[in-house]
Amino acid sequence: MTRMEREEIQKIVEQAIQDGKNTLYEGKVASYIPELAKANSSNLGVCIETKEGEIYASGDYSIPFTVQSISKTFSLILALQTAGYEKVFSKIGMEPTGDRFDSILQLELKDWKPFNPMINAGAIVTASCIDLPKGFEEFLRLVRRLCGNDQIWLNENVYRSEKKTGTRNRSIAYLLKSDGVLEGEPEEVLDLYFRMCSIMVTAKDLAHYAMILSNRGEDPVIGEQLVDRDIVRIVKTLMLLCGMYDQSGEYAVKVGLPSKSGVGGGIVAVAPGGMGIGTFGPMLNQKGNSVGGEQILRTLSEKLNLHLFA
Ligand code: GLN
Repeated sequence: MTRMEREEIQKIVEQAIQDGKNTLYEGKVASYIPELAKANSSNLGVCIETKEGEIYASGDYSIPFTVQSISKTFSLILALQTAGYEKVFSKIGMEPTGDRFDSILQLELKDWKPFNPMINAGAIVTASCIDLPKGFEEFLRLVRRLCGNDQIWLNENVYRSEKKTGTRNRSIAYLLKSDGVLEGEPEEVLDLYFRMCSIMVTAKDLAHYAMILSNRGEDPVIGEQLVDRDIVRIVKTLMLLCGMYDQSGEYAVKVGLPSKSGVGGGIVAVAPGGMGIGTFGPMLNQKGNSVGGEQILRTLSEKLNLHLFA
């Protein structure tokens, strides 16, 4: 990239932040996990990282927040690495639901197994497939490697807050247990799930992770394959189809990048050609997706011509 091009991209990033700021009034911070209600509603940040090592960033891109549902992508990688494709997808489907992320509806009505690993029911079963003596430690190790940040940590307050109040997730886990889909002790699986949701990342960390996914799982700096290409393909496809919950279709039309959101306010988006994007903005829309983050990604997708099908 020439200096001119780099300056141009940085300008677009600043523009995206401005566009994002103009949408914040439409959102609300998540409050169903009491600790998340403390988020600063004016925070907004974005970071882009390329495989050549270029970084473009603006706003609150280095403020840590809880990864929440973005953990579903990391846990799917770990489950596929340890339990394998057959086992994981014998228990979880690959179809979008059109329902809320914490819905229980389809489990009784249509199928006994969760529709996909990007909703809570699917992610709880994914967690149960991570059959390792130190499941959370292995998870944290993987996240740190993929984000290129060995300082990523567990926020005990958020973890405890969610564990105490997570009655809906508890209902999902016990229902799955009663149908024989969930193996193991529901409380133990939930404990792992809550911990995985409560690690602290930044938009910069997510940009690095997305860059690795865009680069087919290979770390361009050390030249090491961190995640098998097959697994990367599965995760990115499910992100595109189901990563934004019951807004995945609309988001795919407007942004067109495999992405995953979390109620902590993060979005990770995989752009083509070795480019990764992370955004942070805790003001959420009714579906639980960051309003500022989504607007930033719409601007970037349009101005940098990133839409997969454009
Ligand atoms: N920890 C949250 C929950 O299970 C994650 C949900 C989300 O980010 N959408 O409810």
